[in-house]
Amino acid sequence: MKNNELNLPADLKKFARVSKLKPVLVFVLCEITAVLFFLLTKDFMYNTEYIAKYKIIGHAFYVILFIIPLFISGIRQAFSDKTYIGTVEKVKVSTTQDYQRSFKPTIDTGYKRNTIYLFVRDQNGDVEKRKVYTTRSMDNQELDYFKAGDKVFHIYGSKYTVIVPTPSDTMAQCAVCGITTDIKEEYCHKCGYTLPSFFSGK
Ligand SMILES: [Zn+2]
Repeated sequence: MKNNELNLPADLKKFARVSKLKPVLVFVLCEITAVLFFLLTKDFMYNTEYIAKYKIIGHAFYVILFIIPLFISGIRQAFSDKTYIGTVEKVKVSTTQDYQRSFKPTIDTGYKRNTIYLFVRDQNGDVEKRKVYTTRSMDNQELDYFKAGDKVFHIYGSKYTVIVPTPSDTMAQCAVCGITTDIKEEYCHKCGYTLPSFFSGK
């Protein structure tokens, strides 16, 4: 079974579609704004004494302006996200040093950050490394939520990767909003999205 053959309820499919569309729209709107800004300011800009002399600075300014939307629209993350279901082969926690203010790193503002990666074997047998979440390191933090052998599900655009309940489980996490919900329910009591049938074996 391939991911696109995953038998997802229509509203979850729609959630993934809309999540895909949003960053693309934001990106396009940002680029249109950048083009308008360029058209409105270029004559003035290239006529200033300094830029007229060093045109390359003007070019660089506009190139940066056109590149910025790539970083602020979330379009790069959008292309790396994917809906998947699979079995955890391995869990990897990567701890890195981070700073409250990245432009002025000092020892005082330094802290550790944990990023959880799962190596997930999908239905085709392919194993892919997937970033699940990144969080500031704290005492007594539960980093062992995911274990090898867990079946996990992630829907495109959601912040959450959830463990698919086993037949003995009565509760499950909603794949859209992350809240814990009774697997016998048809819809999530918080966000209203359908709980996939493979959650309860319905
Ligand atoms: Zn929900």
